[in-house]
Amino acid sequence: MPLHEACGVVGIARTTSVLADLEISLRALQHRGQESAGITIFNGKHDTHKGMGLVSSVFSEISNEFSNGNTGIGHVRYSTAGGSTIRNAQPVLLKTDLGEFSLAHNGTISNHKKIREMVNEEELTSDTDSEVVLRIIGQKMETGMNAVDAIRDTMNILVGSYSITMMHDNKMYAFRDPLGIKPLAAGCFENGYIIASESSAMDTLGATFDRDIEPGEIVSIDADGVTSHGIEASERKAFCMFEYVYFARADAKMDGVLAYSVRHRLGQQLWKEHPVEADVVIAVPDSGTAFALGYSEASDIPYREGFIKNRYVGRSFIQPDDVKRKNTVNEKMNPVGDLLNGKRVVVVDDSVVRGNTSRKIVSRLREAGAKEVHFRVGCPPIISPCYLGIDMPTREEFVATGKEVEDIRAEIGADSMGYVSISGLVDCIGKGEKQLCLGCIDEHYPVPIEGEKLRE
Ligand code: SF4
Repeated sequence: MPLHEACGVVGIARTTSVLADLEISLRALQHRGQESAGITIFNGKHDTHKGMGLVSSVFSEISNEFSNGNTGIGHVRYSTAGGSTIRNAQPVLLKTDLGEFSLAHNGTISNHKKIREMVNEEELTSDTDSEVVLRIIGQKMETGMNAVDAIRDTMNILVGSYSITMMHDNKMYAFRDPLGIKPLAAGCFENGYIIASESSAMDTLGATFDRDIEPGEIVSIDADGVTSHGIEASERKAFCMFEYVYFARADAKMDGVLAYSVRHRLGQQLWKEHPVEADVVIAVPDSGTAFALGYSEASDIPYREGFIKNRYVGRSFIQPDDVKRKNTVNEKMNPVGDLLNGKRVVVVDDSVVRGNTSRKIVSRLREAGAKEVHFRVGCPPIISPCYLGIDMPTREEFVATGKEVEDIRAEIGADSMGYVSISGLVDCIGKGEKQLCLGCIDEHYPVPIEGEKLRE
């Protein structure tokens, strides 16, 4: 079965070696995937190194003889549990008579069944849709098309979300789906250019963010610049609202909007929609911090660091298996009893998925002496799976499926509970409903998904 994955991608072309740049940029994108990491560098041929685990451990295995070329792409990945194998780590590599191809993909192809019929399945070396996309591009080039036309032709067939960096020998390309579901940004160094899922990767490297790759745009990249080969966007866009709420780093600027600002505004909006008398506002660290600060500023209730986070435990949402997830929730944060004892506490989180973490948080706050616990959530209830690039649970696993907010409050054990509304979320992002994907919160998807409703 094809895998539904979400990841981080990067592509760098400079006049100097890109090996260290790829490592640093992938570390900056580590939150987008912790299961595997990989790079391909052109050095007369495509040298690829991939491994399971964090970027730091994968790069520690690279031999001193590894390529020191000036053009390369990289990838970090998470997937469904069954797909967490080295076979599916990226970049995907393809050797043909026309040369070597490598591709790194963030997103999910919705019409994967159809596109798999276009390739010889026996030749596939992974279970990913990404390899199928690369093979289709290669097939088109074998008919005499140049790379840009082959990519454009392939994009006309693909349905779903994709932000991709790709190399054909020493030439690099990047392209983004016409709805612009997943982010992709371009930036520059003094001696080269970078494409990455988030602008944060550029900041870390000392590169300057230049612009977003537009929905539907194809670009080629070399040490002299980023060249656009046209944009085939649809009128409607569908940027993933969850990137702003949770998935991207708070310092990422995506399609002109800083994730931190959205989260801060959502905190203020939460106060407007769900005010409560309380003594202290705290965050579920770290992803709830900007929301909690917004709530505190709007309400004049002081903000305190009520939880101290163990920074050496990964994000619970993207751990592939439930047993690991439960363990990491236990380890990951500790309440500061002296700040909470006898207090009416507002605790703000970015989102609630299964509810396990929220239940645990409320119970730990009560153990720490909180007199009241008021739970506020910066994302409307998640009630439907994501088919477009974020590996979410099934409907049955969401705590909000088929329940009123009051039921969820009782289930997690809080004194009150409030989610931001969908209209409040859209206002805080500031793009308008027609520019966003809201599939997992309103059950209407921007592309046809079998068994689900299509947004008109
Ligand atoms: S369904 Fe939700 S998580 Fe998936 S792309 Fe749409 S908004 Fe993002």
